[in-house]
Amino acid sequence: MASPAAEASKPHVVLIPYPAQGHVTPFLRLAKALHARSFHVTFVHTEYNHARLLRSRGAAAVAGADGLRFETIPDGLPPPAPPELDATQDTWAICEATRRTGPGHVRELLERLGRRAGDPPVSCVVADGAMGFAVHVAKEMGIPAYLFFTHSACGLLAYLNFDQLVKRGYVPLKDESCLTNGYLDTRLDWIAGMIAGVRLSDLPTFIRTTDPDDVMLTITIKQSELDAPAADGILLNTFDDLERAALDAIRARLPITITVGPLGPEVSPPSYLPSLTSSLWREDGRCAAWLDSHADAAVVYVNFGSITVMTRAQVGEFARGLAAAGTPFLWVIRPDMVRDAGDGEATPLLPEGFEEEVVASGRGMMVGWCDQEAVLGHRATGGFLSHCGWNSTVESLVAGVPMLCWPFFSEQVTNCRYACEEWGVGVEMARDAGRREVEAAVREVMGVSERAAAARRKAAEWKEEAAAAVAPGGSSQRNLERFFAEIARVKR
Ligand code: UDP
Repeated sequence: MASPAAEASKPHVVLIPYPAQGHVTPFLRLAKALHARSFHVTFVHTEYNHARLLRSRGAAAVAGADGLRFETIPDGLPPPAPPELDATQDTWAICEATRRTGPGHVRELLERLGRRAGDPPVSCVVADGAMGFAVHVAKEMGIPAYLFFTHSACGLLAYLNFDQLVKRGYVPLKDESCLTNGYLDTRLDWIAGMIAGVRLSDLPTFIRTTDPDDVMLTITIKQSELDAPAADGILLNTFDDLERAALDAIRARLPITITVGPLGPEVSPPSYLPSLTSSLWREDGRCAAWLDSHADAAVVYVNFGSITVMTRAQVGEFARGLAAAGTPFLWVIRPDMVRDAGDGEATPLLPEGFEEEVVASGRGMMVGWCDQEAVLGHRATGGFLSHCGWNSTVESLVAGVPMLCWPFFSEQVTNCRYACEEWGVGVEMARDAGRREVEAAVREVMGVSERAAAARRKAAEWKEEAAAAVAPGGSSQRNLERFFAEIARVKR
Protein backbone atom coordinates (compact mmCIF):
# COMPACT_ATOMS: atom_id res chain seq x y z
CA MET A 1 0.00 0.00 0.00
CA ALA A 2 1.46 3.36 -1.06
CA SER A 3 1.86 6.04 1.60
CA PRO A 4 -0.57 8.98 1.23
CA ALA A 5 2.30 11.18 0.00
CA ALA A 6 3.40 8.57 -2.56
CA GLU A 7 -0.20 8.08 -3.75
CA ALA A 8 -0.68 11.84 -4.15
CA SER A 9 2.40 12.10 -6.35
CA LYS A 10 1.28 9.45 -8.85
CA PRO A 11 0.01 10.38 -12.32
CA HIS A 12 -3.78 10.21 -12.24
CA VAL A 13 -5.71 8.78 -15.20
CA VAL A 14 -9.49 9.10 -15.44
CA LEU A 15 -11.12 6.43 -17.62
CA ILE A 16 -14.56 7.12 -19.06
CA PRO A 17 -16.02 4.13 -20.96
CA TYR A 18 -19.27 4.23 -22.90
CA PRO A 19 -21.78 2.40 -20.67
CA ALA A 20 -22.09 -0.95 -22.43
CA GLN A 21 -20.48 -4.31 -21.69
CA GLY A 22 -18.27 -4.36 -24.78
CA HIS A 23 -16.77 -1.01 -23.76
CA VAL A 24 -16.57 -1.37 -19.98
CA THR A 25 -14.64 -4.66 -20.28
CA PRO A 26 -11.66 -3.46 -22.35
CA PHE A 27 -11.59 -0.23 -20.30
CA LEU A 28 -11.33 -2.20 -17.06
CA ARG A 29 -8.51 -4.25 -18.56
CA LEU A 30 -6.71 -1.01 -19.44
CA ALA A 31 -7.42 0.33 -15.94
CA LYS A 32 -5.80 -2.70 -14.33
CA ALA A 33 -2.77 -2.45 -16.64
CA LEU A 34 -2.39 1.22 -15.62
CA HIS A 35 -2.82 0.38 -11.95
CA ALA A 36 -0.19 -2.37 -12.23
CA ARG A 37 2.22 0.33 -13.52
CA SER A 38 1.52 2.47 -10.43
CA PHE A 39 -0.86 4.95 -11.97
CA HIS A 40 -3.63 6.33 -9.80
CA VAL A 41 -6.81 5.40 -11.66
CA THR A 42 -10.38 6.70 -11.50
CA PHE A 43 -12.85 4.53 -13.41
CA VAL A 44 -16.18 6.13 -14.28
CA HIS A 45 -19.36 4.05 -14.51
CA THR A 46 -22.82 5.37 -15.19
CA GLU A 47 -25.12 5.17 -12.18
CA TYR A 48 -27.21 2.58 -14.04
CA ASN A 49 -24.27 0.23 -14.68
CA HIS A 50 -22.87 0.80 -11.19
CA ALA A 51 -26.18 -0.41 -9.77
CA ARG A 52 -26.15 -3.39 -12.11
CA LEU A 53 -22.63 -4.37 -11.06
CA LEU A 54 -23.66 -4.14 -7.41
CA ARG A 55 -26.50 -6.55 -8.15
CA SER A 56 -24.55 -8.96 -10.36
CA ARG A 57 -21.26 -9.07 -8.46
CA GLY A 58 -21.85 -7.43 -5.08
CA ALA A 59 -20.08 -4.48 -3.49
CA ALA A 60 -16.61 -5.94 -4.13
CA ALA A 61 -16.92 -5.29 -7.88
CA VAL A 62 -17.04 -1.54 -7.36
CA ALA A 63 -15.24 -1.22 -4.03
CA GLY A 64 -12.07 -0.25 -5.82
CA ALA A 65 -8.57 -0.89 -4.50
CA ASP A 66 -5.73 1.16 -3.19
CA GLY A 67 -5.06 3.56 -6.08
CA LEU A 68 -8.06 2.50 -8.19
CA ARG A 69 -11.38 4.14 -7.46
CA PHE A 70 -14.79 3.95 -9.06
CA GLU A 71 -16.92 7.04 -9.63
CA THR A 72 -20.32 7.46 -11.24
CA ILE A 73 -22.05 9.93 -13.51
CA PRO A 74 -25.70 9.95 -14.64
CA ASP A 75 -26.36 8.69 -18.17
CA GLY A 76 -29.00 11.29 -18.95
CA LEU A 77 -31.86 8.80 -19.37
CA PRO A 78 -34.93 8.61 -17.12
CA PRO A 79 -34.63 6.07 -14.28
CA PRO A 80 -35.21 2.52 -15.53
CA ALA A 81 -38.51 0.81 -14.85
CA PRO A 82 -38.37 -1.38 -12.87
CA PRO A 83 -35.42 0.26 -11.04
CA GLU A 84 -33.58 -3.08 -10.81
CA LEU A 85 -33.74 -3.67 -14.58
CA ASP A 86 -30.78 -5.77 -15.77
CA ALA A 87 -30.98 -5.07 -19.46
CA THR A 88 -28.80 -3.47 -22.07
CA GLN A 89 -29.90 0.08 -22.76
CA ASP A 90 -31.07 1.15 -26.20
CA THR A 91 -28.01 2.19 -28.22
CA TRP A 92 -29.70 5.14 -29.93
CA ALA A 93 -31.20 6.50 -26.69
CA ILE A 94 -28.03 6.16 -24.63
CA CYS A 95 -25.82 7.69 -27.34
CA GLU A 96 -28.14 10.67 -27.67
CA ALA A 97 -28.52 11.12 -23.90
CA THR A 98 -24.82 10.87 -23.05
CA ARG A 99 -23.87 13.23 -25.86
CA ARG A 100 -26.45 15.77 -24.67
CA THR A 101 -25.91 15.58 -20.92
CA GLY A 102 -22.42 14.09 -20.60
CA PRO A 103 -20.27 17.21 -20.98
CA GLY A 104 -21.75 18.83 -17.85
CA HIS A 105 -21.43 15.64 -15.81
CA VAL A 106 -17.82 15.02 -16.90
CA ARG A 107 -16.83 18.62 -16.12
CA GLU A 108 -18.41 18.42 -12.70
CA LEU A 109 -16.63 15.12 -12.01
CA LEU A 110 -13.20 16.39 -13.12
CA GLU A 111 -13.65 19.52 -10.97
CA ARG A 112 -14.65 17.37 -7.99
CA LEU A 113 -11.65 15.05 -8.46
CA GLY A 114 -9.40 18.10 -8.66
CA ARG A 115 -10.62 19.29 -5.24
CA ARG A 116 -10.44 15.96 -3.43
CA ALA A 117 -7.83 15.93 -0.69
CA GLY A 118 -5.22 13.18 -1.03
CA ASP A 119 -5.92 12.50 -4.70
CA PRO A 120 -3.26 13.48 -7.22
CA PRO A 121 -4.39 16.10 -9.75
CA VAL A 122 -5.90 14.57 -12.88
CA SER A 123 -3.07 14.24 -15.38
CA CYS A 124 -4.90 12.53 -18.23
CA VAL A 125 -8.38 11.52 -19.40
CA VAL A 126 -8.93 8.44 -21.53
CA ALA A 127 -12.48 8.58 -22.84
CA ASP A 128 -14.33 6.13 -25.02
CA GLY A 129 -14.58 7.07 -28.68
CA ALA A 130 -18.34 6.92 -28.14
CA MET A 131 -17.96 9.47 -25.31
CA GLY A 132 -15.84 11.75 -27.51
CA PHE A 133 -17.40 14.90 -26.05
CA ALA A 134 -15.22 14.30 -22.96
CA VAL A 135 -12.12 15.24 -24.96
CA HIS A 136 -13.36 18.80 -25.40
CA VAL A 137 -14.24 19.10 -21.70
CA ALA A 138 -10.80 17.85 -20.63
CA LYS A 139 -8.96 20.09 -23.10
CA GLU A 140 -10.90 23.15 -21.95
CA MET A 141 -9.67 22.32 -18.44
CA GLY A 142 -6.09 21.94 -19.67
CA ILE A 143 -6.02 18.16 -19.21
CA PRO A 144 -4.51 15.92 -21.91
CA ALA A 145 -7.11 13.59 -23.38
CA TYR A 146 -6.97 10.39 -25.40
CA LEU A 147 -9.82 8.52 -27.09
CA PHE A 148 -10.03 4.76 -26.81
CA PHE A 149 -12.20 3.37 -29.61
CA THR A 150 -13.09 -0.12 -28.44
CA HIS A 151 -13.88 -1.36 -31.93
CA SER A 152 -11.69 -2.69 -34.71
CA ALA A 153 -9.42 -0.53 -36.86
CA CYS A 154 -11.44 -1.59 -39.92
CA GLY A 155 -14.58 -0.43 -38.09
CA LEU A 156 -13.00 2.89 -37.14
CA LEU A 157 -11.80 3.38 -40.71
CA ALA A 158 -15.35 2.86 -41.94
CA TYR A 159 -16.69 5.41 -39.42
CA LEU A 160 -14.00 7.89 -40.49
CA ASN A 161 -15.49 7.68 -44.00
CA PHE A 162 -19.13 8.29 -43.00
CA ASP A 163 -18.76 11.99 -43.78
CA GLN A 164 -17.54 11.13 -47.28
CA LEU A 165 -20.40 8.68 -47.75
CA VAL A 166 -22.80 11.54 -47.07
CA LYS A 167 -20.90 14.02 -49.24
CA ARG A 168 -20.76 11.55 -52.13
CA GLY A 169 -24.49 10.93 -51.88
CA TYR A 170 -24.50 7.25 -50.80
CA VAL A 171 -26.09 8.08 -47.45
CA PRO A 172 -28.79 8.69 -46.28
CA LEU A 173 -30.56 6.08 -48.37
CA LYS A 174 -33.07 7.44 -50.88
CA ASP A 175 -35.84 5.28 -49.47
CA GLU A 176 -36.50 2.04 -47.60
CA SER A 177 -36.34 -0.03 -50.81
CA CYS A 178 -32.55 0.49 -50.82
CA LEU A 179 -32.38 -1.96 -47.93
CA THR A 180 -33.58 -4.83 -50.10
CA ASN A 181 -33.15 -3.89 -53.79
CA GLY A 182 -29.44 -4.67 -54.09
CA TYR A 183 -28.29 -1.10 -53.43
CA LEU A 184 -26.31 -2.25 -50.38
CA ASP A 185 -24.26 -4.49 -52.72
CA THR A 186 -22.74 -1.32 -54.23
CA ARG A 187 -18.96 -1.70 -54.18
CA LEU A 188 -16.77 1.12 -52.92
CA ASP A 189 -13.28 1.31 -54.38
CA TRP A 190 -12.32 4.72 -53.01
CA ILE A 191 -11.90 3.98 -49.29
CA ALA A 192 -8.12 3.78 -48.87
CA GLY A 193 -7.11 1.01 -46.49
CA MET A 194 -10.28 -1.08 -46.84
CA ILE A 195 -10.12 -4.58 -48.29
CA ALA A 196 -10.86 -4.86 -52.01
CA GLY A 197 -14.46 -5.35 -52.96
CA VAL A 198 -15.90 -3.80 -49.84
CA ARG A 199 -19.63 -3.12 -50.19
CA LEU A 200 -22.02 -0.69 -48.52
CA SER A 201 -23.42 -3.71 -46.69
CA ASP A 202 -19.99 -4.29 -45.11
CA LEU A 203 -19.95 -0.83 -43.54
CA PRO A 204 -21.39 -0.18 -40.06
CA THR A 205 -25.16 -0.54 -40.21
CA PHE A 206 -25.73 3.02 -38.97
CA ILE A 207 -25.59 4.08 -42.65
CA ARG A 208 -28.81 2.13 -43.26
CA THR A 209 -31.03 5.13 -42.65
CA THR A 210 -33.15 7.42 -44.77
CA ASP A 211 -32.95 10.20 -42.17
CA PRO A 212 -30.15 12.75 -42.71
CA ASP A 213 -30.43 13.68 -39.01
CA ASP A 214 -30.31 10.10 -37.73
CA VAL A 215 -28.80 10.11 -34.23
CA MET A 216 -26.17 7.42 -34.84
CA LEU A 217 -25.20 8.79 -38.25
CA THR A 218 -24.68 12.32 -36.94
CA ILE A 219 -22.97 11.28 -33.71
CA THR A 220 -20.52 8.96 -35.45
CA ILE A 221 -19.67 11.75 -37.92
CA LYS A 222 -19.05 14.13 -34.99
CA GLN A 223 -16.80 11.54 -33.34
CA SER A 224 -14.71 11.29 -36.51
CA GLU A 225 -14.67 14.90 -37.60
CA LEU A 226 -14.67 16.81 -34.28
CA ASP A 227 -13.68 14.55 -31.39
CA ALA A 228 -10.94 12.28 -32.75
CA PRO A 229 -8.84 15.10 -34.28
CA ALA A 230 -9.05 17.04 -30.97
CA ALA A 231 -7.62 14.15 -28.93
CA ASP A 232 -3.93 13.80 -28.06
CA GLY A 233 -4.05 10.29 -29.44
CA ILE A 234 -6.27 7.34 -30.29
CA LEU A 235 -6.04 3.95 -28.61
CA LEU A 236 -7.24 0.80 -30.36
CA ASN A 237 -7.67 -2.74 -29.03
CA THR A 238 -6.01 -4.34 -32.04
CA PHE A 239 -2.50 -5.08 -33.25
CA ASP A 240 -0.52 -3.86 -36.24
CA ASP A 241 -0.08 -7.17 -38.07
CA LEU A 242 -3.83 -7.85 -37.96
CA GLU A 243 -5.04 -4.59 -39.49
CA ARG A 244 -2.02 -2.97 -41.09
CA ALA A 245 -3.70 -1.41 -44.14
CA ALA A 246 -6.60 0.01 -42.15
CA LEU A 247 -4.20 1.36 -39.53
CA ASP A 248 -2.03 3.03 -42.19
CA ALA A 249 -5.13 4.79 -43.55
CA ILE A 250 -6.25 5.83 -40.06
CA ARG A 251 -2.77 7.12 -39.18
CA ALA A 252 -2.76 9.23 -42.36
CA ARG A 253 -5.58 11.19 -40.69
CA LEU A 254 -4.91 10.59 -37.00
CA PRO A 255 -1.12 10.17 -36.76
CA ILE A 256 -1.04 9.26 -33.06
CA THR A 257 -3.05 6.06 -33.30
CA ILE A 258 -1.74 3.60 -30.74
CA THR A 259 -2.47 -0.12 -31.03
CA VAL A 260 -2.53 -1.74 -27.58
CA GLY A 261 -4.32 -5.00 -28.23
CA PRO A 262 -5.26 -7.61 -27.68
CA LEU A 263 -6.15 -6.39 -24.20
CA GLY A 264 -6.43 -9.95 -22.96
CA PRO A 265 -4.92 -11.98 -20.14
CA GLU A 266 -1.37 -11.11 -21.15
CA VAL A 267 -1.94 -7.40 -20.52
CA SER A 268 -4.51 -7.76 -17.77
CA PRO A 269 -4.42 -11.19 -16.10
CA PRO A 270 -7.78 -12.25 -14.58
CA SER A 271 -5.85 -12.95 -11.34
CA TYR A 272 -5.00 -9.22 -10.93
CA LEU A 273 -7.50 -7.54 -8.58
CA PRO A 274 -9.90 -10.44 -9.32
CA SER A 275 -12.83 -9.02 -7.38
CA LEU A 276 -12.96 -6.01 -9.73
CA THR A 277 -14.87 -7.42 -12.67
CA SER A 278 -16.87 -5.79 -15.40
CA SER A 279 -19.52 -8.45 -15.99
CA LEU A 280 -22.95 -6.84 -15.86
CA TRP A 281 -24.60 -10.25 -15.57
CA ARG A 282 -23.62 -13.00 -13.15
CA GLU A 283 -21.66 -15.76 -14.88
CA ASP A 284 -23.00 -19.29 -14.75
CA GLY A 285 -20.28 -21.32 -13.05
CA ARG A 286 -21.32 -24.69 -14.55
CA CYS A 287 -19.73 -24.12 -17.94
CA ALA A 288 -16.18 -25.21 -17.08
CA ALA A 289 -17.24 -28.59 -15.68
CA TRP A 290 -19.53 -29.20 -18.66
CA LEU A 291 -16.72 -28.34 -21.09
CA ASP A 292 -14.33 -30.59 -19.14
CA SER A 293 -16.56 -33.54 -20.03
CA HIS A 294 -16.04 -33.05 -23.78
CA ALA A 295 -13.23 -33.94 -26.14
CA ASP A 296 -10.80 -31.38 -27.52
CA ALA A 297 -12.34 -28.89 -29.99
CA ALA A 298 -15.65 -30.83 -29.92
CA VAL A 299 -17.96 -28.03 -28.75
CA VAL A 300 -19.47 -25.15 -30.69
CA TYR A 301 -19.90 -22.13 -28.43
CA VAL A 302 -22.84 -19.84 -29.29
CA ASN A 303 -22.98 -16.32 -27.87
CA PHE A 304 -24.21 -13.09 -29.41
CA GLY A 305 -22.80 -10.65 -26.87
CA SER A 306 -24.55 -8.08 -24.71
CA ILE A 307 -26.69 -6.10 -27.18
CA THR A 308 -28.04 -8.48 -29.84
CA VAL A 309 -31.74 -9.22 -29.60
CA MET A 310 -33.52 -12.11 -31.30
CA THR A 311 -37.10 -13.12 -31.90
CA ARG A 312 -38.49 -16.39 -30.60
CA ALA A 313 -38.75 -17.60 -34.17
CA GLN A 314 -35.02 -17.00 -34.72
CA VAL A 315 -34.14 -18.77 -31.47
CA GLY A 316 -36.29 -21.69 -32.63
CA GLU A 317 -34.46 -21.87 -35.96
CA PHE A 318 -31.06 -21.80 -34.25
CA ALA A 319 -32.20 -24.50 -31.81
CA ARG A 320 -33.35 -26.78 -34.64
CA GLY A 321 -30.15 -26.12 -36.60
CA LEU A 322 -27.94 -26.87 -33.60
CA ALA A 323 -29.91 -30.01 -32.80
CA ALA A 324 -29.66 -31.26 -36.40
CA ALA A 325 -25.93 -30.60 -36.66
CA GLY A 326 -25.30 -33.12 -33.89
CA THR A 327 -22.34 -31.21 -32.43
CA PRO A 328 -22.24 -30.55 -28.67
CA PHE A 329 -22.96 -26.89 -28.00
CA LEU A 330 -22.76 -24.33 -25.21
CA TRP A 331 -25.39 -21.68 -25.96
CA VAL A 332 -25.70 -18.46 -24.02
CA ILE A 333 -29.09 -16.74 -24.12
CA ARG A 334 -29.00 -13.53 -22.08
CA PRO A 335 -32.06 -12.93 -19.92
CA ASP A 336 -32.87 -9.80 -22.00
CA MET A 337 -31.98 -11.22 -25.41
CA VAL A 338 -35.30 -12.49 -26.72
CA ARG A 339 -37.81 -9.82 -27.65
CA ASP A 340 -40.95 -10.20 -29.66
CA ALA A 341 -43.43 -7.67 -30.82
CA GLY A 342 -47.13 -8.36 -30.27
CA ASP A 343 -48.23 -11.73 -28.97
CA GLY A 344 -44.94 -13.52 -29.70
CA GLU A 345 -44.47 -14.04 -25.97
CA ALA A 346 -47.09 -16.76 -26.11
CA THR A 347 -44.85 -19.00 -28.26
CA PRO A 348 -42.54 -21.36 -26.32
CA LEU A 349 -38.91 -20.29 -26.66
CA LEU A 350 -37.49 -23.70 -27.57
CA PRO A 351 -38.98 -26.29 -29.93
CA GLU A 352 -40.94 -29.15 -28.44
CA GLY A 353 -38.70 -31.93 -27.17
CA PHE A 354 -35.54 -29.81 -27.37
CA GLU A 355 -35.05 -29.57 -23.59
CA GLU A 356 -35.42 -33.32 -23.05
CA GLU A 357 -33.68 -34.63 -26.15
CA VAL A 358 -30.83 -32.16 -26.50
CA VAL A 359 -30.27 -30.30 -23.24
CA ALA A 360 -31.18 -32.92 -20.62
CA SER A 361 -29.19 -35.53 -22.54
CA GLY A 362 -26.09 -33.40 -21.98
CA ARG A 363 -25.40 -32.66 -25.66
CA GLY A 364 -26.30 -29.03 -25.22
CA MET A 365 -25.68 -26.67 -22.33
CA MET A 366 -27.72 -23.47 -22.08
CA VAL A 367 -26.88 -20.63 -19.70
CA GLY A 368 -27.72 -16.93 -19.36
CA TRP A 369 -24.15 -15.56 -19.21
CA CYS A 370 -20.69 -17.06 -18.96
CA ASP A 371 -17.05 -16.19 -18.52
CA GLN A 372 -16.40 -15.93 -22.25
CA GLU A 373 -12.62 -15.67 -22.11
CA ALA A 374 -12.53 -18.87 -20.07
CA VAL A 375 -14.93 -20.65 -22.44
CA LEU A 376 -12.98 -19.64 -25.54
CA GLY A 377 -9.73 -20.65 -23.85
CA HIS A 378 -11.05 -24.10 -22.92
CA ARG A 379 -9.54 -26.97 -24.96
CA ALA A 380 -13.05 -28.34 -25.69
CA THR A 381 -14.20 -25.22 -27.58
CA GLY A 382 -13.74 -25.80 -31.30
CA GLY A 383 -15.88 -23.10 -32.92
CA PHE A 384 -17.57 -19.84 -31.98
CA LEU A 385 -20.94 -18.90 -33.44
CA SER A 386 -20.72 -15.16 -32.82
CA HIS A 387 -22.27 -11.81 -33.65
CA CYS A 388 -18.72 -10.53 -34.35
CA GLY A 389 -18.63 -7.84 -31.68
CA TRP A 390 -15.05 -6.64 -31.60
CA ASN A 391 -14.26 -8.03 -28.14
CA SER A 392 -15.67 -11.41 -29.11
CA THR A 393 -13.71 -11.38 -32.36
CA VAL A 394 -10.45 -10.47 -30.62
CA GLU A 395 -11.05 -12.98 -27.82
CA SER A 396 -11.66 -15.64 -30.48
CA LEU A 397 -8.41 -14.75 -32.27
CA VAL A 398 -6.51 -14.81 -28.97
CA ALA A 399 -7.88 -18.29 -28.27
CA GLY A 400 -7.29 -19.52 -31.84
CA VAL A 401 -10.95 -20.54 -32.29
CA PRO A 402 -12.55 -20.37 -35.79
CA MET A 403 -15.80 -18.41 -36.09
CA LEU A 404 -19.27 -18.78 -37.55
CA CYS A 405 -20.20 -15.18 -38.15
CA TRP A 406 -23.75 -13.89 -37.69
CA PRO A 407 -23.36 -10.11 -37.34
CA PHE A 408 -26.19 -8.18 -35.76
CA PHE A 409 -25.50 -4.44 -36.19
CA SER A 410 -22.93 -1.60 -36.16
CA GLU A 411 -19.39 -2.45 -37.33
CA GLN A 412 -20.00 -6.12 -36.59
CA VAL A 413 -20.72 -6.52 -40.32
CA THR A 414 -17.28 -5.06 -41.11
CA ASN A 415 -15.59 -7.37 -38.59
CA CYS A 416 -17.45 -10.31 -40.17
CA ARG A 417 -16.19 -9.43 -43.64
CA TYR A 418 -12.62 -9.16 -42.38
CA ALA A 419 -12.84 -12.37 -40.32
CA CYS A 420 -14.08 -14.30 -43.37
CA GLU A 421 -12.18 -12.64 -46.25
CA GLU A 422 -9.05 -11.15 -44.76
CA TRP A 423 -8.14 -13.20 -41.69
CA GLY A 424 -9.55 -16.48 -43.01
CA VAL A 425 -10.98 -17.59 -39.67
CA GLY A 426 -14.70 -17.33 -40.32
CA VAL A 427 -17.69 -18.58 -42.27
CA GLU A 428 -20.45 -16.02 -42.80
CA MET A 429 -24.09 -16.83 -42.11
CA ALA A 430 -26.92 -14.86 -43.68
CA ARG A 431 -28.90 -12.53 -41.45
CA ASP A 432 -32.04 -14.54 -42.15
CA ALA A 433 -30.31 -17.90 -41.65
CA GLY A 434 -32.81 -20.63 -40.86
CA ARG A 435 -32.29 -24.07 -39.35
CA ARG A 436 -30.71 -25.53 -42.52
CA GLU A 437 -28.15 -22.73 -42.83
CA VAL A 438 -27.32 -23.00 -39.13
CA GLU A 439 -26.86 -26.75 -39.41
CA ALA A 440 -24.73 -26.41 -42.58
CA ALA A 441 -22.50 -23.71 -41.03
CA VAL A 442 -21.93 -25.73 -37.85
CA ARG A 443 -21.12 -28.86 -39.86
CA GLU A 444 -18.79 -26.82 -42.08
CA VAL A 445 -16.75 -25.17 -39.31
CA MET A 446 -16.70 -28.15 -36.93
CA GLY A 447 -16.17 -30.71 -39.67
CA VAL A 448 -13.27 -32.09 -41.68
CA SER A 449 -13.60 -30.16 -44.95
CA GLU A 450 -10.57 -28.41 -46.43
CA ARG A 451 -12.23 -25.06 -45.64
CA ALA A 452 -12.62 -26.00 -41.96
CA ALA A 453 -9.02 -27.17 -41.78
CA ALA A 454 -7.87 -23.90 -43.37
CA ALA A 455 -9.88 -21.83 -40.89
CA ARG A 456 -8.37 -23.80 -37.99
CA ARG A 457 -4.87 -23.27 -39.38
CA LYS A 458 -5.44 -19.53 -39.78
CA ALA A 459 -6.96 -19.27 -36.31
CA ALA A 460 -3.90 -21.00 -34.84
CA GLU A 461 -1.61 -18.60 -36.72
CA TRP A 462 -3.50 -15.54 -35.48
CA LYS A 463 -3.38 -16.89 -31.96
CA GLU A 464 0.42 -16.85 -32.20
CA GLU A 465 0.50 -13.39 -33.79
CA ALA A 466 -1.83 -12.01 -31.14
CA ALA A 467 0.33 -13.41 -28.35
CA ALA A 468 3.48 -12.04 -29.98
CA ALA A 469 1.98 -8.53 -30.19
CA VAL A 470 1.61 -8.28 -26.41
CA ALA A 471 4.68 -10.33 -25.43
CA PRO A 472 7.77 -8.41 -24.34
CA GLY A 473 9.11 -6.57 -27.40
CA GLY A 474 5.86 -7.04 -29.38
CA SER A 475 4.30 -4.10 -31.21
CA SER A 476 1.37 -3.53 -28.83
CA GLN A 477 3.48 -4.12 -25.72
CA ARG A 478 5.97 -1.45 -26.85
CA ASN A 479 3.13 0.92 -27.72
CA LEU A 480 1.57 0.45 -24.31
CA GLU A 481 4.86 1.14 -22.56
CA ARG A 482 5.40 4.27 -24.67
CA PHE A 483 1.87 5.43 -23.93
CA PHE A 484 2.35 4.83 -20.20
CA ALA A 485 5.66 6.73 -20.28
CA GLU A 486 4.07 9.61 -22.21
CA ILE A 487 1.16 10.10 -19.82
CA ALA A 488 3.38 9.60 -16.75
CA ARG A 489 5.45 12.58 -17.90
CA VAL A 490 2.53 15.00 -17.62
CA LYS A 491 2.82 17.09 -14.48
CA ARG A 492 -0.05 19.32 -13.50
N1 UDP B 1 -19.25 -11.63 -22.54
C1 UDP B 1 -19.09 -12.45 -21.45
N2 UDP B 1 -20.03 -13.42 -21.24
C2 UDP B 1 -21.10 -13.61 -22.05
C3 UDP B 1 -21.24 -12.75 -23.17
C4 UDP B 1 -20.29 -11.78 -23.39
O1 UDP B 1 -18.14 -12.34 -20.69
O2 UDP B 1 -21.88 -14.52 -21.79
C5 UDP B 1 -18.24 -10.57 -22.78
C6 UDP B 1 -17.33 -10.94 -23.93
O3 UDP B 1 -16.25 -11.72 -23.45
C7 UDP B 1 -16.93 -9.58 -24.47
C8 UDP B 1 -18.14 -8.70 -24.16
O4 UDP B 1 -18.89 -9.38 -23.17
O5 UDP B 1 -15.78 -9.12 -23.79
C9 UDP B 1 -19.03 -8.45 -25.37
O6 UDP B 1 -18.41 -7.55 -26.20
P1 UDP B 1 -18.51 -7.63 -27.78
O7 UDP B 1 -17.72 -6.48 -28.32
O8 UDP B 1 -18.11 -8.95 -28.27
O9 UDP B 1 -20.04 -7.49 -28.11
P2 UDP B 1 -21.20 -6.47 -27.66
O10 UDP B 1 -21.71 -6.98 -26.38
O11 UDP B 1 -20.59 -5.10 -27.55
O12 UDP B 1 -22.20 -6.57 -28.75
